[in-house]
This record gives sequence, structure tokens and C-alpha cells, in this order.
Amino acid sequence: MYAFEKCIKFDYELTISSFKKEEIKMDCSALKNVRFQAFLTFFNYIFKQVLTWSVYIHKVKGLPYTTTNSTREMKTTIYTLLSLLLASCSLIDFNVAPEDLEVRYNSDEAVLLKPYVDKYLEEASKRGILLHHKSIDVFVEESNDPEVLAKACFYCRKLTVYNNSKVWREMQRRSFDIDYGVGLKLLAHELNHTLIDADHRGVKGETMSVIFDDQSEVAILSLMTQGDNDIPDLRNETLSFLWNEYYWDELFEIIPTNKQLIFE
Ligand SMILES: [Zn+2]
Repeated sequence: MYAFEKCIKFDYELTISSFKKEEIKMDCSALKNVRFQAFLTFFNYIFKQVLTWSVYIHKVKGLPYTTTNSTREMKTTIYTLLSLLLASCSLIDFNVAPEDLEVRYNSDEAVLLKPYVDKYLEEASKRGILLHHKSIDVFVEESNDPEVLAKACFYCRKLTVYNNSKVWREMQRRSFDIDYGVGLKLLAHELNHTLIDADHRGVKGETMSVIFDDQSEVAILSLMTQGDNDIPDLRNETLSFLWNEYYWDELFEIIPTNKQLIFE
């Protein structure tokens, strides 16, 4: 049911006569998933069978076969079947150790991102985090928006990174060095969406204050906060410690999200 609620908005009010797979509205690209297409084909087959049985039973019992009756029965059956299928679909790949994840880099350019992906997986592995997929595809493409570095989604097993974005250019300038905080943050953020279905935390650009040695610094609230502001580089002399003291643990929800951190 988790997958069903998270990934799919199913319009309960669809009439049976107009029920077609195009009308199942998806809010992520799971529909592209071959396995899901297979489920839909199977589901369509079951739907037709149930419809045939329903008409037959009404005839045998000598009951009037009304559209209202059949619609109610169909809706209940369809909802139950679809929920079961999707719930089972979502469970198949759960609990994959990060070191067992198969990462498919779909071009030489995509391979440039390997250090970032490896770093995310290493930090997840250190903390005993289990992933929801056994494989993921990494693509590098062009986009229309230079402000967006990457996109991923729940359940889609795909990370797309844009090579005409400002952050990509900066990553390139730094020879894809993982110490570049903004690049690492954005990729860890997207991987967390797709590999463990994590939601955003904090509103776009929300920050936290970090106090140490009586000095206050501003930093982004969480790696799951939208936007790329105020994330320290891993070699930043003042704030780099935040990655190990807070960001990775917070990313995997080992510690709570904090708006203020005080370090002695
Ligand atoms: Zn996001």
C-alpha cells in the first residue's frame, strides 16, 4: 500500500466504462518500468475476466444487471487487485545492501559521477542503511534549465544529471572532486529520493545555525532541503566537520533534523 499511496494517484471516480490504463495517473515515472507495464497488462486481463464473471453470475441468479451494481463491484475488485499488485511490486527489491547495488552508468560522461555515487553508498553502508532497489541507471543529458543539476524520483531507479547546468560546470572545473559540497549534496539528495524514497526536509533554502567557539554560522538545514545554498565543501576549514557530525546521519534519519547545532 505504501507504493500505491506514494507513487500513484488513482482516480476513484473513474467510471468502469472509461477505465483504461492511460487514465491511471502517475506522479512518477514508474509507468516506464517494464515490470509495472507487465502488471498493468495482467491487471487489464483480470479486469476483463471479472467483468465477464460478474455478468454471468447475474444471469445465473436471474438478477438484474445494473450499471450501478456492476460499477460498485468492479471498483472494489479493481482497487483490491491493484493495491495487492503494487504492494508486492514495491516489496520485491527492498532491503538491498548499498554494496550490492548495481549502478549502470549509461555513458562515459555518466561514469564521471561515480565518485559521488560511491561516496553516498559508502556513507549509507557505514550506517547499515538498506536500499529499496537492487539497481539504478545513471544518465547524463541536456536540459532547458541551467539551475537544475539532477533529477530522480521515487521508485523510478533512474538518476538523470544535466551537463549544461551551472553545478555540472563547476563540478567539471573541479575535475569531479567529491570535496565539492554543492555537487555532493545534490547527488546525495537525488539518490536518497530514489534509493530510499526519502522526502524533502525543510522548505526551499531553509537554513540552520551552527554555533561553535561563540561564533554563529549559517548552513543548509539538511541534504534533503531543496536548493543548493550554504552547503560547505568537504575541505572547508570552518564547516567541513558538519558533514560527518550531522549531514550524513541526518540524511539517513539516524539523528533528527536540527535548526540549531551547538558544538563546544
Ligand atoms: Zn528533491
